[in-house]
Amino acid sequence: MGKEQYMDRAEHALYKIYNRFPVVFDRGEGVYLYDTDGTEYLDFGAGIAVMALGYGCREFQEAVKDQVDKLCHTSNLFYNAPSIGAAEKLLKVSGMDKVFFTNSGTEAVEGALKVAKRHAFNKGMGQDYEIIAMKHSFHGRSLGSLSVTGNDHYQEPFAPLIPGIRFAEFNNLNSVKALFSEKTCGVIMETIQGEGGIYPASEEFLKGVRSLCDEHDALLILDEIQCGMGRSGSMFAWQEYGVKPDVMTVAKALGNGLPIGAFLACKGAAKVMEPGDHGTTYGGNPLVCAAADKVLELFEEKNLVAHVQEIGQYLWEELEALAGRLDCVAAHRGKGLMQGLELSMPVGPVVKTALLEEHLVLISAGSQVIRFVPPLVIEKEDVDEMIVRLERAVKSVVRSVAEA
Ligand SMILES: *Cc1c(COP(=O)(O)O)cnc(C)c1O
Repeated sequence: MGKEQYMDRAEHALYKIYNRFPVVFDRGEGVYLYDTDGTEYLDFGAGIAVMALGYGCREFQEAVKDQVDKLCHTSNLFYNAPSIGAAEKLLKVSGMDKVFFTNSGTEAVEGALKVAKRHAFNKGMGQDYEIIAMKHSFHGRSLGSLSVTGNDHYQEPFAPLIPGIRFAEFNNLNSVKALFSEKTCGVIMETIQGEGGIYPASEEFLKGVRSLCDEHDALLILDEIQCGMGRSGSMFAWQEYGVKPDVMTVAKALGNGLPIGAFLACKGAAKVMEPGDHGTTYGGNPLVCAAADKVLELFEEKNLVAHVQEIGQYLWEELEALAGRLDCVAAHRGKGLMQGLELSMPVGPVVKTALLEEHLVLISAGSQVIRFVPPLVIEKEDVDEMIVRLERAVKSVVRSVAEA
């Protein structure tokens, strides 16, 4: 079946929520995707920071297939072995004390927010509590996670959202301090803002927020859904800062394409929830946990975090060099394999031209930033190839803007 036919059927059948690019992906291998016509695309988006191991990772596929043949689902009324293995590995690499598996990132955030609310409830704050979140943040689309997502455009059609949320400026400690009171039961933020434009927290800011939380007995929730799982060049981005959250969220790369997320808690925060406070039918089922268990095993076996440090440095240097050759680059930010190039023009046309003319998959972060979140297994030659294609795409767009 041709691409046009697929697109036509999709537009008839699927709820029109996304503006999609005219590409129908069919299969993947390594860092490359192939569409239904067999065209090859270099992928620097990784399904939005999901496909950490790349496509077609044989060991991962075998582990998932074995589990499909054995048992996909039982429910959380019983124990299952893959969830125990995945949980233990996650605790080992994070230093947290307890894990709860979810089906997505937004659900991990929901769980984390419930921990903060339960913490307030246990302290006798009743419903008169507040949670501080950051402007330009992104935590998901469910009503709870949307409530802490600092984006008016996303929030407005769905207001009123959950009450008691106050928004501070990311990397502005005084703005957080100004919102703190005896009502504050938690602060939620991304360690590196993703969707908002690739902004890493400054060390001073994260340490300062940690101290404010300690002073006020509030929980620090770090959302590592995008920046976690090795992407920043550490297993979790916060591990570079000398602070530790009370609660953290993961998802995206955890299942390498299978839908799984988790919230993790430590110390007192690992004890505030009680049986019956939360639950999920699919969350932590044997299939997705076998996938996550294998992902965590392969991270260690392949020494992926060290690889990200090396390739991330190389990507940094090559993007710096590219920025030097192009007049339209306004800024370059990020860590490891989570980097952003801010342009002095909208990036939409660049992303589209890269995809359709250069067969390079890139994603944006807001309207002015190109976001680089490739599979963590990329090599230097993939970076070189990406730079060649990106440079041609940018020049093509600049040329057509000049001609218009
Ligand atoms: C993607 C993302 C989410 C939401 O995850 P979903 O799996 O799409 O629900 C939450 N927080 C951050 C930082 C993300 O990047």
